[in-house]
Amino acid sequence: MTSPLDRVDTSTAHSARVYDYILGGKDHYLVDVEAGDAMCRHWPSLPVHMRENRRFMHRAGRFLAEEKGVRQFLDIGTGLPTAPNLHEVVQKAAPESHVVYVDNDPIVLTHARALLQSSPEGATAYVDADMHDPDAILDSPEFSELLDLDKPVGLMIIGMLHFILPPDDHRLVRRLLDPLPSGSFLAMTIGTADFAPEEVGQVAEEYARQNMPMALRDLPTATSFFDGLELVEPGVVQVHKWRPGDGQHAVDDRAIAMYGAVARKP
Ligand code: SAH
Repeated sequence: MTSPLDRVDTSTAHSARVYDYILGGKDHYLVDVEAGDAMCRHWPSLPVHMRENRRFMHRAGRFLAEEKGVRQFLDIGTGLPTAPNLHEVVQKAAPESHVVYVDNDPIVLTHARALLQSSPEGATAYVDADMHDPDAILDSPEFSELLDLDKPVGLMIIGMLHFILPPDDHRLVRRLLDPLPSGSFLAMTIGTADFAPEEVGQVAEEYARQNMPMALRDLPTATSFFDGLELVEPGVVQVHKWRPGDGQHAVDDRAIAMYGAVARKP
């Protein structure tokens, strides 16, 4: 029998493991450490940037659960489990919440058990699929079993759109949004070099060297992903500026290469 581990390539770096390494996790290999260290040499703010991206996910999830009453979530590019995960955030607000996680990295699949520790009232599931093949996500049994398309769904695309290159990027986001009913939400973060062009450009080159080409987007391009949707306040802003709340400490804008926004499907 083949195990997902047979699909793990330990000879090249992978985005989920580099992210895990820089966030202080333990599920990565030497190649990921080397790639992550090289990226941090180019841009020492990378760990702050990644942490603030993760914190945006927590706030956006909590906002949708607490203030918008969303009880079902589809999370694309979940990453390795890092507490709190999305289901822990939203089930704290509403234990009956359902979360479908999606990632294409076999090592995330091997750790998926931590994502499946749902509250007894709610449910979570994991789909091993690639966003480039949205039908594999939308046609999965997990999608139809956990998500009731008569009720709003929160589509979360956090810290991964930079791996979805043009010209397919807009189409792929729309394809995932299309079957979701009116009143659903898109919460997304979008990588940008607008605030530290040189350093972030070098990080992107390092990712490209490691076979992970990346698209960085300016504000108009980032905003265009929300065309036809109703942006909630404060619109498309750097992630640390999106509804920061009292707990937010001061962060230098130049340390954050990610726009974030939440928008409602009319
Ligand atoms: N959403 C998490 C993790 C971001 S790391 C967070 O913000 O904290 C990016 C994740 O996207 C990685 O786990 C990587 O495996 C996944 N990913 C990259 N390209 C993907 C694709 N085409 N389809 C599905 N997942 C992808």
